Amino acid sequence: MENQKTIGIPRGMSFYNNYPFYYGFFTDLGIKIVLSDMTTKQTMSAGSSLVVTETCLPIKVYIGHVLNLLDKGIDKIFVPSIQSIAPKIYNCSKIRGLPDLVRNVVKQDFTLIEATLDKSEKNQGLYEFLSEIASQFGINDMEKVKKASKAGWRCYNNFQIMSKSGMSYKKALNYALQGKVFIESSDKEFPISVALISHGYNIFDERTSMKIFDKLEDMDVKVYSSLQLSTEQMADGISALGQDMYWANEYEMTGAAGHYLKDSKIDGIITLTAFGCGPDSLMIEHIIRKAKSYNKPLLNLTIDEQTGEAGFITRLEAFVDMLFRKKRANIINKIDINNEYIPNTNYIETKK
Ligand code: SF4
Repeated sequence: MENQKTIGIPRGMSFYNNYPFYYGFFTDLGIKIVLSDMTTKQTMSAGSSLVVTETCLPIKVYIGHVLNLLDKGIDKIFVPSIQSIAPKIYNCSKIRGLPDLVRNVVKQDFTLIEATLDKSEKNQGLYEFLSEIASQFGINDMEKVKKASKAGWRCYNNFQIMSKSGMSYKKALNYALQGKVFIESSDKEFPISVALISHGYNIFDERTSMKIFDKLEDMDVKVYSSLQLSTEQMADGISALGQDMYWANEYEMTGAAGHYLKDSKIDGIITLTAFGCGPDSLMIEHIIRKAKSYNKPLLNLTIDEQTGEAGFITRLEAFVDMLFRKKRANIINKIDINNEYIPNTNYIETKK
């Protein structure tokens, strides 16, 4: 269809948490989605070349994805400005100013499909955000927007149900986009469990995270993330750490950490943060201090475009090895050594 409306969506930032919603919404409106390709080294270096060095990795990756869509000939690119998701709950300045940032560094001829979601200063609702997007495609019928919004929520909720059942991010996303819902139950037992604390755009991008889920599973480690938690559990986690919510992504960081620190099945915490992230440096500092008081081992990994895979694996292996030794020591200490143990030496004595 030559006249079909098309929108390009960069695989970065809010894509990782919100794509099921965007998919349902745009598809219902009859707008075809073109995604940028998976992140590669080239995506990172292309994005990095346009911004100052101090910029955090996820933003560099995002710019790389915008460039990739332009290379594919897509001239309408969705770059939302998600300012505030609830009264007095804000995103970091880079997320808030994403359309301006893209406009200023990508000097090519294209249309930014931008819309602002601001539940604080502007007290905007989701429908205002969605109708701002739809109007840029000439769709001004509010009933159509509401219907598309429902389709978006349906897809998003299916994704959430499957993720909470413990299904991997990739599988849950694939099924949700096909309109399917499966509940996965795995019989596989893992001797060690860790909670991976980070933003969706850091851990579900396989290049940025260096496939950390697969690497840990290969080491016999079960990995939990914020995706398995409800908003209420994460809100409790924030209170458990004695924090007030300020950052929009505090749920997946402080909230998930607070929940898993209290969870006895979790043997250790891994935090993954991007070099140069202001909000994370504050949140991680707090999580590290609390982990000490809960006596939970914590590994903090910082990533940037220079992070090498070999060093990354070594640190993961050393941490997992320590968790195994700690668990073994705990089990041995629980054995009652006061019971008299008389070794049976008969076999040794009669052997010759
Ligand atoms: S929260 Fe941190 S990692 Fe995310 S965009 Fe802001 S500065 Fe970058």
